[in-house]
Amino acid sequence: MAPTDVQQFDYIVLGGGSGGSGSARRAAGWYGKKTLIVESGRSGGTCVNVGCVPKKMTWNFASINEALHMGEHYGYDIPKDIKIDYKQFKETRDASIVRLNGAYERNWGREGIDLVHGRARFVEPRVIEVALEDGSVARYSAPHILIATGGRPVVPGVKGAEHGITSDGFFEIEELPPKVAVVGAGYIAVELAGVMAAVGVETHMFIRGEHFLRKFDPMIQKTMTDRYEATGVHLHKHHAGFQEVQLLRDGKGKDRLLKLIGKDGSEIEVNELLWAVGRHPEVEDLHLDIPGVKLNESGHIAVDEYQNTSADGVYALGDVTGQAELTPVAIAAGRQLGSRLFGPPALKSAKLSYENIPTVVFSHPEVGTIGLTEPQARERYGDDKVKIYHTKFTAMYYDVLPADEKKKNPTEFKIICVGPEEKVVGLHILGLGVGEMLQGFGVAMKMGATKKDFDSCVAIHPTSAEELVTMR
Ligand SMILES: Cc1cc2nc3c(=O)[nH]c(=O)nc-3n(C[C@H](O)[C@H](O)[C@H](O)COP(=O)(O)OP(=O)(O)OC[C@H]3O[C@@H](n4cnc5c(N)ncnc54)[C@H](O)[C@@H]3O)c2cc1C
Repeated sequence: MAPTDVQQFDYIVLGGGSGGSGSARRAAGWYGKKTLIVESGRSGGTCVNVGCVPKKMTWNFASINEALHMGEHYGYDIPKDIKIDYKQFKETRDASIVRLNGAYERNWGREGIDLVHGRARFVEPRVIEVALEDGSVARYSAPHILIATGGRPVVPGVKGAEHGITSDGFFEIEELPPKVAVVGAGYIAVELAGVMAAVGVETHMFIRGEHFLRKFDPMIQKTMTDRYEATGVHLHKHHAGFQEVQLLRDGKGKDRLLKLIGKDGSEIEVNELLWAVGRHPEVEDLHLDIPGVKLNESGHIAVDEYQNTSADGVYALGDVTGQAELTPVAIAAGRQLGSRLFGPPALKSAKLSYENIPTVVFSHPEVGTIGLTEPQARERYGDDKVKIYHTKFTAMYYDVLPADEKKKNPTEFKIICVGPEEKVVGLHILGLGVGEMLQGFGVAMKMGATKKDFDSCVAIHPTSAEELVTMR
C-alpha cells in the first residue's frame, strides 16, 4: 500500500536497542522532543534479546554447577549425578527477557516516545519509510535521524554452514548438546564455550592461532587459553578452517549430528556447531546512498567523534559504527548525542570519550580489562617509560582443592604504568569475582590514578582485590 502522508518528528531513531533507546529517552524524556523509535525486531535489541542479558543469565546458570562441584570439597554431600533441566532454565530466562521487552516499551511510552515495529529505510535524505507489521507502509520525517541498527552474527561461506548456529541460535537451544564445536576466538566464542564446558558439554574450540582473545593483553590470552585446556576444553589450535558441514541427523540435543570436514581433510562429528566468527553491521537495506551516509573500510558507518555521519542531520552510534561494541558504550554515546542535539547551549559539544572503557569477559573465570595492553603501552610510550606490576596466585576460595586442581584456577593481575609518576594506563585482571572488581578501578583510572594512588588505598582483607593495592 502506498504511504499517504509523512508524519513529522523532531528526532527519528532507527533501532530500539541499547544506543537507540538511550538516545531517544534523552531527547524525549529530558528535553521533551517529539521522538519516534523504529524497531524491526524485539524491543531492547541485541543486549536484551540475544546478547548480554541471556548470556549473563546462562553464565550464572553454569557458575552454579561449578559451585556445586566446589561444594564437595567444602564437605557438602553433593550427588554425583546432578540433573540439569536446561529447558526449564531456558523458559525462565525467556520469561525474564519478555519482561524486559515490556519494561523498555513502558519506559518509552512514559516518556512520550512513539514506537513503530517494522523495517526502516531512507526514501529521501530526511524521510524514512517503514514496512509496518500489518502490511502497510508509513513515512516519517525529522531534521535529526539516528541510525542505531546494530549488527548481526556472521555465518562463514562454508558449504553447509547453515547447519550450524550463531550466538542468536545459541539462545534458542532447549536441550544441551552432549558435544559441541565452537568456531572463533573472540569473547563471544570464549564465553559460550565456557558455559557449555562448565555444565559438562564436551566442548571443542577451533581457533586460528595459538591463543584466543587475541585483542586482549598477552597475559589474558595465554592464561585463559591454558586454563580452558586444563579444565577439559578441547582446543584445536592453528586450525585452517572447514570446507564442509554435513547434517547427518536432524534433531535436538543428542539427536542432532553434524560432520565437520576441515580444509586439511580432518573430520569430527558433533551434536551442535556454533559459529562465533564476528559480527556484521546492519546497513544493507537502509538505502544509505539516499542521504549520502558513507561506510568505512570495515563496512561500518563512518562517524566523527560527535557521532556525525557524512550526511547532514544523520548520526550513527553503537555496533553499526564498530566503535567498542558494548551496550554501555552505545547507551552513553546515545545519551551524549541526545544532549548535544537537544540540550542547553552548555552541552553543544557533548560527546562520549572512548578512552579507558572497562569491559569484562564472562568466561570461566571472568576477565576484566581497561586501558592499554602491554604491547600497546610499549608502542605508544617506549619500553623505558613503561613499568609492569604483575602477580599470579590462587584465590582462597580454591584452598580446599587438591594441589593439581588448585593450580587450574589462577587469579592473575597486571598493572601497566607509565612515566616517573607511574600513571596507570592499563589494568588486566582474571580470576574469581573480577567482573565486579573492575568497575571501581575503572573510576580510578578515569580520574588519572597513579600506582601511588592505588597503594594509598587501604586493602580489604581477605579478598583477591587487595592484591591490586599491595603489588610490589
Ligand atoms: C552474545 C553477545 C553477548 C554480548 N555480551 C555483552 C556484554 O556482556 N556486555 C556488553 O556491554 N555488551 C555485550 N554484547 C554487545 C551488545 O549487545 C551490543 O554492543 C549492543 O547491543 C549494541 O547496541 P546497539 O544499540 O548498537 O545495537 P542493538 O542492540 O543490536 O540494536 C539494534 C536494533 O536495531 C534493529 N534494526 C536493525 N535494522 C533495522 C532497520 N532497518 N529498521 C528498524 N530497526 C532495525 C534491530 O532489530 C535491533 O533491535 C554482546 C553481544 C552479543 C551478540
